[in-house]
Amino acid sequence: MRSRRTFLKSAGAAALVAPTASFRASALDAVGATGPRRTGLVQTVLGPLDASKLGVTLPHEHIADGPDVLNRWPKAWGGRAEFVAKAAEKLKLVKVAGVSTIVDLTTYDVGRDIRFLEEVSRKSGLSMIACTGQRFFPPQDPHVSMPARTIAGLTEFFVKEIEQGIDGTGIKAGVIKIGIISNRPTALEETGLRAAARASKATGMPMRNHTDAAHRAGESHAAILEDEGVNPARVSFDHSDGSGDMDYFLGLVKRGYSLGMDHVHRGTAVDFQLSFERRAQCIKLLIDAGFATKIFLSQDAEFGGSLLPENARSWREKIDPPEEMLFITQRLIPHLKRIGVSDSDIHTMTVENPRSFFGQA
Ligand SMILES: [Zn+2]
Repeated sequence: MRSRRTFLKSAGAAALVAPTASFRASALDAVGATGPRRTGLVQTVLGPLDASKLGVTLPHEHIADGPDVLNRWPKAWGGRAEFVAKAAEKLKLVKVAGVSTIVDLTTYDVGRDIRFLEEVSRKSGLSMIACTGQRFFPPQDPHVSMPARTIAGLTEFFVKEIEQGIDGTGIKAGVIKIGIISNRPTALEETGLRAAARASKATGMPMRNHTDAAHRAGESHAAILEDEGVNPARVSFDHSDGSGDMDYFLGLVKRGYSLGMDHVHRGTAVDFQLSFERRAQCIKLLIDAGFATKIFLSQDAEFGGSLLPENARSWREKIDPPEEMLFITQRLIPHLKRIGVSDSDIHTMTVENPRSFFGQA
């Protein structure tokens, strides 16, 4: 496998790798003859968009790891203007591959910069959805004291970012992201999860949870979410492919939850037990069991800039797909087709599910 750096050097060559004709056809069919399954509005960083226009959507990504760093250290990563231009160029390749929308799940506490997202969206021509929520409990922000936060206080903050906008800009969040590290939420994580649930119920916004699937964490999240009365159709347990356990998957989808299969690329790295093939096979088995409508495909990639210290870089290079945000279109989807997944099911997972999930009735 190529290292991430090698890939960065050859990004130009990647542009020449065209998506398969059938994937492109399904992408172009986003507003197909049969019409959208459900209409509604989605909040993008450039304003409200009809959900039928989302097209192929990557629902769990990060344009940069903490772009906020550019506001404090303007020369980081080659400088803001250069970095924005580089990100936009790479995103244009993602667009050429058939993708129309990227959901950036970078929360305030890991350096979200809403103006950066807005600029990159404009320059790349891709629609982008920003999130409210929180990644770490306590947050990795020295100015925020998590123990002082109440469920009501956090709910109010999430609702404000959804209804009024982020950081005084008027750009509204279109999804709630919550990071639960452990298999059972800690007391602080539970505060965040309950706040997200209440914000979701108050606004109708969907939730995407960072989930320790290998330890069946979705089940402990679900117990809390159900206690809060959340509609499971508004919840996706992301990083689920780290499980490989069909019993775990079927239990959750039968209860109405969705599964974000967004770490499939990690199966190509030596340090991860569960193989790429097994992760992809689980997607096929779920489709065969009738649950294509409960699956999201993404790759949790960040590219171009990272706040990680030098000693963490090699780890990050290992977990990022060498194809970066082209992994889904260039590698996973062709593999799924080879093992028998139909174009129609790919369309369901990449176009119809995001349309239903992010669209507000
Ligand atoms: Zn993520």
